[in-house]
Amino acid sequence: MKAPSHILQTIADGLDLIANRWTLSILQAAFQGCCRFDEFLKHTGISRATLTRRLEELTEHNILVKTPSDHPRRFLYIFSERGLGLLNASLLARELEAAWSGEAPRPLKHTTCGHEFRAKLICEHCNSELHDKDITWQQRDHGIDELQELNQLQAALSSNGKSKRPRDSALNSKKGQSVVANIIGDRWCLLIIIAHLLKVSRFDDFLKLLNIAPSTLNARLKLLQEQELIEKEQYQENPPRYNYQLSKKGQMAGRFISELRQWILAGDGESVSSQLVHTPCGNSLKQKLVCECCGGVPRADELSSIK
Ligand SMILES: [Zn+2]
Ligand SMILES: [Zn+2]
Repeated sequence: MKAPSHILQTIADGLDLIANRWTLSILQAAFQGCCRFDEFLKHTGISRATLTRRLEELTEHNILVKTPSDHPRRFLYIFSERGLGLLNASLLARELEAAWSGEAPRPLKHTTCGHEFRAKLICEHCNSELHDKDITWQQRDHGIDELQELNQLQAALSSNGKSKRPRDSALNSKKGQSVVANIIGDRWCLLIIIAHLLKVSRFDDFLKLLNIAPSTLNARLKLLQEQELIEKEQYQENPPRYNYQLSKKGQMAGRFISELRQWILAGDGESVSSQLVHTPCGNSLKQKLVCECCGGVPRADELSSIK
């Protein structure tokens, strides 16, 4: 087992690479069958320069493979074996998008069983279905507590050279863009949601653990409330003090983030033990995504859009 600081750096690097607004949109498009530059451009609405940079980054990290096409100067971007491992995260992002935006996703057919595909998450240890309330975020074996880990994760994220991106992407989002990409793709919103999952609920605790400016925290909490992902509850009148809790909708982010985390750590050869526990069976969480109808594990080539 590697040192906790190494694991946190790995998670921070992985989140930097995947959990940003542009990359989440590109991956969604790729799983929907886009593989040419122009298709990504049309599907995601990202500028040419940003798309070029992100596709290069995904190629460098062996998530997409750039291969020649029938046109001499154009390329196809297809998933590598490692990239295909993001299918589950992508399927969960799709369901999260539907829940958060209130718009039904384009239906997918699981060709193996012939039915419309709906994702079901089960625990690999006890095989029972995973519910948001049964996933406990806690520290088990690093000898540091989870809040310290959160604090270090924040530090690892901000010390990454790559994360000198504009931090207010969620606040500048345009209508029609993916809610998930805007919220999870925003560094601060993501950290605030992770903090919530770790049971942080008070304004001052967020300030302390995330090293965040009060105005930035205020803006993010307001945004998350507008999206109905967190709820505010007053616990003191004078001066007014509030508790912030994830709403039912907000809690759904937990399984998507734990899936990303599982993928990041698996790529680094790390086990996924620590921090996440399936409460009913008491084992560290290893989630498995299956088709709700037939129980089969879906492959990308077994899912097709129902026209
Ligand atoms: Zn279990
Ligand atoms: Zn099926």
